[in-house]
Amino acid sequence: MLRTFRKIALAGVSAAALMLPGAVSAAEGLVGIAMPTKTSARWIDDGNNMVKQFEAAGYTTDLQYADDDIPNQLAQIENMITKGVNVLVIAAIDGTTLSNALENAKAADIKVIAYDRLIRDTDAVDYYATFDNFKVGVEQAGSLVKGLKERFPDQKPWNVELFGGSPDDNNAFFFYDGAMSVIQPLIDDGSIAVVSGQMGMDKVGTLRWDPATAQARMDNLLSANYTDKQVHGVLSPYDGLSIGILSSLKGVGYGSGDMKMPIVTGQDAEVPSVKSMLADEQYATIFKDTRELAKVTVGMVNDMLEGKEPQVNDTETYNNGVKVIPSYLLQPVAVDKSNWEQILVGSGYYTKDQVE
Ligand code: BGC
Repeated sequence: MLRTFRKIALAGVSAAALMLPGAVSAAEGLVGIAMPTKTSARWIDDGNNMVKQFEAAGYTTDLQYADDDIPNQLAQIENMITKGVNVLVIAAIDGTTLSNALENAKAADIKVIAYDRLIRDTDAVDYYATFDNFKVGVEQAGSLVKGLKERFPDQKPWNVELFGGSPDDNNAFFFYDGAMSVIQPLIDDGSIAVVSGQMGMDKVGTLRWDPATAQARMDNLLSANYTDKQVHGVLSPYDGLSIGILSSLKGVGYGSGDMKMPIVTGQDAEVPSVKSMLADEQYATIFKDTRELAKVTVGMVNDMLEGKEPQVNDTETYNNGVKVIPSYLLQPVAVDKSNWEQILVGSGYYTKDQVE
């Protein structure tokens, strides 16, 4: 089937070459890939993996990064629509701002895949390729509790502070809710105390997943609540935030003398955070294999363009405000010092040299 598609694609190219000036043709097999930012290595990996796999399957790609700037991403998507892409694969910066642009895509019969992050408030999204985001949160909180038991076995309640992701990213709510499904019962039974009292995404969210914002909030939490006690754990939903949080903690002496480093979680298994884990700073992260996410996405695109129904494994969870988007959810894996080598090196995601 793919071969048939390639033939059509080739036919499209030669037909386009023969076209009269001024005539417009849809580029065959052109995939627009809109990614949020290059400040986090995971999105660079996502982009590279997709380009590699799409090109191996015979497609042409247009990969764009938007510096976490919403108007910039909108302009990039509009430009891709004008260029006549067949498919848009979008990891949105703000999942609620794309409705108008995607109406134009729909009108031009362009298929749309929400990549990793749900695109909200539009019916112009065909499929969603992501990880089990609730489970990411469950695993993050699982690592937090595992670490607290290990490092602070005789200390109860454990003093914990909570961080959430960006409130314009639907995933952030899934991560937080998943984590709280583990943490709330421990608050209720007195095992965990959130000393600042700051709970709920409206209080703990971190706009645009910005590390400096997390660092500043951690500074404030420490100076307002921890002058006479120590913090034992910090729920952090993303490695970049964890780095900011750890700087703040180290800045007031945690990790030296009698101030043990609190258990800090993370997500994405980015190289600086894996190194931090091996240096006993960050305690854990969550590995999400971007090669697999690219594979699922390329498979969805192939199927859609061949008129087949892509394979999904969830048709209930992701209501984007207009409809439930059929989704394929991959499994996240919790990583700490006990299994990093097996998971990250064993899977070929990193070489040992890259992280040591
Ligand atoms: C992704 C996470 C990532 C975060 C910040 C989320 O949408 O699912 O993997 O850590 O964005 O980039």
